[in-house]
Amino acid sequence: MALVEIKNLHKSFGSNHVLRGIDFTVEQGEVVCVIGPSGSGKSTLLRCVNLLEKPQEGQVIVRGEDITDPDCHLDAARQQIGMVFQQFNLFPHLSVLANCTVAQRTVLKRGQQDADRIARANLERVGLSDKIDAYPAQLSGGQQQRVAIARALSMDPALMLFDEPTSALDPELVGDVLTVMRKLALDGMTMLVVTHEMAFAREVADRVVFMDGGVIVEQGPPADVIGSPKEERTRTFLRRVL
Ligand code: ADP
Ligand code: MG
Repeated sequence: MALVEIKNLHKSFGSNHVLRGIDFTVEQGEVVCVIGPSGSGKSTLLRCVNLLEKPQEGQVIVRGEDITDPDCHLDAARQQIGMVFQQFNLFPHLSVLANCTVAQRTVLKRGQQDADRIARANLERVGLSDKIDAYPAQLSGGQQQRVAIARALSMDPALMLFDEPTSALDPELVGDVLTVMRKLALDGMTMLVVTHEMAFAREVADRVVFMDGGVIVEQGPPADVIGSPKEERTRTFLRRVL
C-alpha cells in the first residue's frame, strides 16, 4: 500500500482553478521532490496533503484512509504528517527545547520527561544539542529551520512535507539544512519536498515531479526529469533555473 495516494485532486480559489487533476503516490520510504515555476500550485498541493486546504474534488489517501472523507478523524490523520515551511514559524517566546515539546505534550499527551528526551534526541539529529536553551531570535535562519525539522520529527510522523525549506535562508546557511534533509532521507524517512535546489533533487530524490499550471507535466527518476526531460515545458523551466 502506498503511504500517500492522491487521486484526481482539484483545488480552486474562487475562479482560479489552481490544481487541475493531480494523481500521484508516495511510497513508504520514498523521497519525492516537486519542482515547477512559481504559481504552478506546488504549495497548494502540499497543503492539500494534510488538508490545510480543502480540495473541491478528488481524494487524499494516507495509509489507506481517505482523509478527504468527511467521516475521517482528521486530527489523527494529520498527526502522521509533519510539515516544514519556508518561514520557520517557531514560537518566539519558547526555548528551542520547549518549541520541540509543546505539541508532544498537548497533542500526543506525552509526559514532560518523555517529551524532553524525544526532543533532545531529535535536536541532536539536526546538530543543535548545544542550542536547547536558546530562543529562536538568538539563532540563525538555518538553525531555526533545523529546530523546525526537529520539532516536526518529535511528533513521530510517517511522512514529512517540506515547502521550500531553504528559500528564506542566506546562501551560506542552505547547506546545513540540506545536509539534515539528506540524512533524514538516508534514515528512510518518507519525504515530499517542494524545492528549487536542483542539485539536492538530483542527488536525493527517488522521483521528481514537475508541475506547471496545476498539472503534473512529467515525473520520474531525477536522471530522466532533470537530466533528460521529455516535455518542452520541463526543458524551458530547467533552462531558467539551472
Ligand atoms: P507555488 O507554490 O507553485 O508557487 P501556490 O500553490 O502557492 O503555487 O499558488 C498557486 C496559485 O494559487 C496562485 O495563483 C496563488 O495566487 C493561488 N493561491 C494560493 N493560495 C491561495 C489562497 N489561500 N487564496 C487564494 N489564492 C491562493
Ligand atoms: Mg509555493
